[in-house]
Amino acid sequence: MEPKQVELNISGMTCDGCAEHVRRALEGVPGVRAVVVPGWQEGRASVVADDGLADEALTEAVTAAGYGAQISSRSALAERAGAVRTGESEVDLMIVGSGSAAFAAAIRAAELSYSALMVERGTLGGTCVNVGCVPSKTLLRAAETYHRATHSRFAGVRPRGADLDWGMVIGEKDELVGRLRREKYERVLEAYPSIGLVRGQARLTPEANVEVDGRVYCPARVLLAAGAHPYVPPFPGADGVEVLTSTEALALSERPASLIVIGGRYVALEMAQMFARFGTRVTVLQRSDRVLPDHEPEIAEALTGYLREEGIEIYTNVCILRLRQDGQEKVVEAQVDGVASVFRAAQVLAATGRRPNTEDLGLEAVGVEVNERGAVRVDAGMRTTNPRVYAAGDVTGPPMFVYLGAAEGKRSAENALLGMQESLDRSTIPAVIFTDPQVATVGVTEAQARAEGMDVKTATLPLNYVPRALAARDTRGLIKLVADAESARLLGAHVLAAEAGEVVQTATMALRVGMPVQSLTDTLFPYLTQVEGLKLAALAFDRDVGQLSCCAG
Ligand SMILES: Cc1cc2nc3c(=O)[nH]c(=O)nc-3n(C[C@H](O)[C@H](O)[C@H](O)COP(=O)(O)OP(=O)(O)OC[C@H]3O[C@@H](n4cnc5c(N)ncnc54)[C@H](O)[C@@H]3O)c2cc1C
Repeated sequence: MEPKQVELNISGMTCDGCAEHVRRALEGVPGVRAVVVPGWQEGRASVVADDGLADEALTEAVTAAGYGAQISSRSALAERAGAVRTGESEVDLMIVGSGSAAFAAAIRAAELSYSALMVERGTLGGTCVNVGCVPSKTLLRAAETYHRATHSRFAGVRPRGADLDWGMVIGEKDELVGRLRREKYERVLEAYPSIGLVRGQARLTPEANVEVDGRVYCPARVLLAAGAHPYVPPFPGADGVEVLTSTEALALSERPASLIVIGGRYVALEMAQMFARFGTRVTVLQRSDRVLPDHEPEIAEALTGYLREEGIEIYTNVCILRLRQDGQEKVVEAQVDGVASVFRAAQVLAATGRRPNTEDLGLEAVGVEVNERGAVRVDAGMRTTNPRVYAAGDVTGPPMFVYLGAAEGKRSAENALLGMQESLDRSTIPAVIFTDPQVATVGVTEAQARAEGMDVKTATLPLNYVPRALAARDTRGLIKLVADAESARLLGAHVLAAEAGEVVQTATMALRVGMPVQSLTDTLFPYLTQVEGLKLAALAFDRDVGQLSCCAG
């Protein structure tokens, strides 16, 4: 049965929760295929439904949920698509890329009963599954397991040591990557007949159509989800020295005896600790005066100390002067705090950021603007400066996280295909660095808040106040909370702890609903969990946590 698209005006919505109620009410109507309710402020909803569904069923469902509803327009989906098409469109949404942003957009298009065609010049699945999140996190966990086999925190548990088979470690990583690519990308593609894939290099034509290796496709809308690539600054001498990027470092067939990591942000620190724990002698060279320059200084300083305790050499205020090859060794000549220094290692890894893949896309001719770092400029609704072209994911610049790219992909497909201009809620974007201990943050740091003129108060809790950390004999870390000085509303949470990534999500929910610190302290947290540290940190705003009993009652 041909689907239709129905637009409704909704009255009575006063908050995000209302928009959610309306969405659920509409989704519960038999024959409804997809529902989009932009923020409650817009007072409307878009529904894709079977053509035979009576409009009254929709208005009645909304009324039963306690809101007012009126049909503002309806159209057969084919007509609707026709209205946005130019010339001989073969597909509703053409997507450059097949990574997380592209897949989220393609699946949303399919749910809305539109067709999507992805173009991929490399490996299906893009960065996250092939050369990013998945391989790096499984290798980090392998390194942690190896490290724990030789470093017990319990005097009564004597480690016996462990054998390292590098080939097998890399083989297991490759097996996981291959399996997840099949299950999460190839099979998903097979499950949606309205999503297609063409292989090749895509480029936009001046008419905002898409040329793939000589063939021109005429889609109704285009989504750029072309991702980013590792950026290596043009260090003098780098031409004559093979410098690794994270992609190559994750695939080395031999473990290097020594490694210089240039950079001090998340990829640099994850790679540094991973190789160090596998037995590589690691030196980190960071340009700024500390690693993680955008994080809370207490966290950067503590993590630096823990990494140094594991034998990683960390230098800050480093200015790289020249790279050169000396026999089997790679040499980095630099100034550290203004003093000439020379570093030598078997391999050099540049973890110096990522730049959007926008160079060969033909953007200028089609009027799609990029910023000074090559990132596609988009408005709040993910639309570029050409109204037929949208962009999502790493191609739009930082922050570059797979879950953010996927959310942007989904939202941009809705906006592009349903003619909406709905923005994405970016107020609470959690971020995790998978070192051990992990760094997890959400919301503003103290410095960011003050720079924005906010009047804030902070509370910092060392992890040796958290019973879970004491029981695990791992009290490395701290929790720092930032709150509005007057209303005590939580504005930021910054956690350095084992499994901090699991802790921060509770803070993310608290931030999302605008929770005051008091509500955190009034909430029951299970004893002994790491997340209990959030409650203890919240209590530290006005109590001496050293005087609390064990359950922080
Ligand atoms: C080492 C590392 C670790 C990471 N760890 C994490 C993590 O733990 N958590 C997290 O959230 N994020 C992590 N990230 C970031 C995350 O992987 C990216 O944010 C995410 O994968 C980006 O998805 P995307 O869809 O925007 O782009 P991509 O996945 O990069 O997809 C873009 C695709 O477009 C293709 N393409 C580009 N140009 C063209 C063209 N002209 N024609 C055809 N095809 C083209 C590319 O080949 C690529 O496959 C990590 C990244 C790295 C490098």
